[in-house]
Formats: sequence, C-alpha cells, structure tokens
Amino acid sequence: MTPEESKAVATRGFATHSEEGGFEPFEFTRRAVGANDILIEIEYAGICHSDIHQARNEWKDSMPTNYPLVPGHEIVGRVSQVGDAVTKFKVGDIAGIGCFIDSCRECVNCRNGHEQFCVKMAAYTYNGTEMDRVTKTYGGYSDKYVIDENYALKVKADGDLSGVAPLLCAGITTYSPLKRFKVGPGQKVGIVGLGGLGHMGVKIARAMGAEVTIFSTSPSKEADVRSLGADHFVVSSDPANLTPLAGTFNMILDTVSADHDVNQYLALLGVGGAMVVVGVPPSPNQIHALALIFGNKTLSGSLIGGIPETQEMLDFCAENGIRSEVEVIKPDYIETAYDRTIKADVRYRFVIDMKNA
Ligand code: NAP
Ligand code: ZN
Ligand code: ZN
Repeated sequence: MTPEESKAVATRGFATHSEEGGFEPFEFTRRAVGANDILIEIEYAGICHSDIHQARNEWKDSMPTNYPLVPGHEIVGRVSQVGDAVTKFKVGDIAGIGCFIDSCRECVNCRNGHEQFCVKMAAYTYNGTEMDRVTKTYGGYSDKYVIDENYALKVKADGDLSGVAPLLCAGITTYSPLKRFKVGPGQKVGIVGLGGLGHMGVKIARAMGAEVTIFSTSPSKEADVRSLGADHFVVSSDPANLTPLAGTFNMILDTVSADHDVNQYLALLGVGGAMVVVGVPPSPNQIHALALIFGNKTLSGSLIGGIPETQEMLDFCAENGIRSEVEVIKPDYIETAYDRTIKADVRYRFVIDMKNA
C-alpha cells in the first residue's frame, strides 16, 4: 500500500447493483484529502428524479449506468478536514455538493463559470469518473465526500439542514432558467409539475417577484398553493382548464419527468414568451413549427448551473428564507421513496438522513 492509499478515506454508502433495484450497504474508499481538498461529513442527501432514472438505467442510450451505483447529488454536510492550501473553508463550515465535482478548468465554458458544459465533460458526482477518467465517482448516499474546495459550495444556514440539500440540484436547475429569462415583478410564470424541481421553481419565481401558476396532474396538491407562495393552481389533466389561459404567460418552466405534450403549454405563452424544459421524459416530443412561429416564441432547455451561479442561488435562497419541503427518510426506505416519487407521491422531496445512517 502506498502512503497515499493508506490515507484514503473509508466511506460507507448505499448502492444499487442492477436496474432491478434494491439498495444495500456498500463500503468503498475516497481519495486521501489533498492540498486543495476538503472532507465533508454528509448530513443529508436529496433524492432527485435523475437518481431514479440512473439507478434504473433509464438513460442507457446516453449515459449508461455503471453499477454498483451510489447516487446522490444534492449533498449537504459539515467540513471535518481541510487540505494545506484550502482557503474557502474551515473545519466546521457547512458545505454543499451538486451534480459535478470537477471539470477541466481551462475550456471556454469552465472559464465562463459554466462547468456543467466543460468540453472535456465535467466529473459527475456519481455514475462518472474523476477527471483522470479512471477513478469512479460515488454520490451522496454515503457518509463522506472528498472534493476540491473550488467545486464545493458555501452554505449559510442555521439548524436543521435537510431542507437545504435539494437546493444543490432542484434549486439551481430552476433558479438558472428563471434568472436567464429575467423573471420578475409584473411577469406571469407557469411551473409545470409540482415535484422536487417544481416546488423549488414556485418558491424561487415568487421570490423574484413573478405571479406564479402551478400546472399539476395531482389535484390534492392544491392545498399547498398558499404555503408554497403560488398564486394559482391549474389541474392540467383536463385540457378545458388550459384553454382560457392561452397567450397569457411570459415564461413556462416544464419540470415533468414523464411523457406529456409540450404543445399545450406553448399555446399558453404570450408574444415573445419562452418555455424552458428541464424535465427529461423518456420519449421525444413532436412540435409543429407554427406553435413557435405564431408569437415569436422560444423553446429552450437548461442544465443545472455552474459553480458561480449555484453559489449565487444558495445566497439568494438564504436571503429569501427559501428551503425545500422535505420528507426525511432512513436509507432502508430509498426503494419505497423511489416508487412513491414516480407516483408523484412526495411532498416535495425525499431527503436521506445520512448523519444517523
Ligand atoms: P419529481 O419530484 O418526480 O417531479 C416530477 C413531477 O412531474 C411530479 O411530481 C408530477 O407533478 C409530474 N408528473 C409525473 N408524472 C407525470 C405524468 N405522467 N404526466 C404529467 N406530469 C407528471 O422529479 P424531479 O426530481 O423534480 O425531476 C423532474 C425531472 O427533471 C426528471 O426527469 C429529472 O431527471 C429532471 N432533472 C433535470 C435537471 C436538469 O438539469 N435539466 C436537473 C434535475 C432533474 P404533478 O403531481 O404536479 O403533476
Ligand atoms: Zn438532480
Ligand atoms: Zn472545461
């Protein structure tokens, strides 16, 4: 064993071994804490629907799953060790990790703070490799993470951190397009799908000053409209509810994970309006050019956010008292949580308590 290997960090996680599912305890090592690294004792890891897509190998064509898989890219915890050259963090600080842990740092996208689009491909937090392209990455359903300080986020928060973890993916994925399309007072914003991403989109769009309408297939969620800060709730499964809203929205953010028709929402945009897709349904959509041409409409996508913007989002959420609504679970409930998330039966994000796992 080399001296470096002997300093490797023993880690306990929870892994799934095939697309049939099931999570089991899984022991592995993370690299020794280097000069620029911090060691984070993970307290909470959110369950993003992307974890489910990958655990069940639903993205096998574009991003096949490399088992054993330890998912988790909504990570919050406390720093327990810092490398000699670390300047941003000290022991005891709260730190977060999102969807990637490194990138090439040299390409135009990295230099512009859009590391998620690194031309050499970012090192994803799990189901990927470090930038050496050899060392496999394991995610936040585990008790520790070693990460370069430049790819960890600073979290300002008091007390229980469970509602902070989902900001690291659901928060930034909704904040980034809302910001890019300059959502603000006087604007009407629609959020399609009230799940983990959707409920964060509602809170953030409201804090930016917009009038927010939720489009949901779950009538029972209407009871939460006020507490989430939304202005209107529309049951989207009945097309008759959408017809009177044609041409009235400045922006619509689509967070739905399952197949659905985006055309019915394009029709709700006013002139110059934009619809941004962040959900990843399994099948392609068919869009008629005229649905965009009439009204000079924009259809866009958005992928998480870079490190500077993720930090900006965390600071925005801290200033505005925004956290995720969570159901905290133990690791033995992960599989059930997956099944319930698929049935849209979560209010509104499952978060695994890794502190007591
Ligand atoms: P989630 O918590 O499961 O929420 C998805 C919501 O979609 C559900 O709560 C439900 O809302 C709605 N929905 C589900 N099935 C539906 C159906 N058959 N028809 C219409 N609506 C349906 O998932 P999430 O974690 O928010 O993630 C959502 C999607 O975004 C996933 O595909 C995920 O992979 C993707 N994602 C993308 C990025 C990115 O960077 N672009 C980042 C993270 C996640 P209602 O009950 O209100 O209808
Ligand atoms: Zn995610
Ligand atoms: Zn790069």
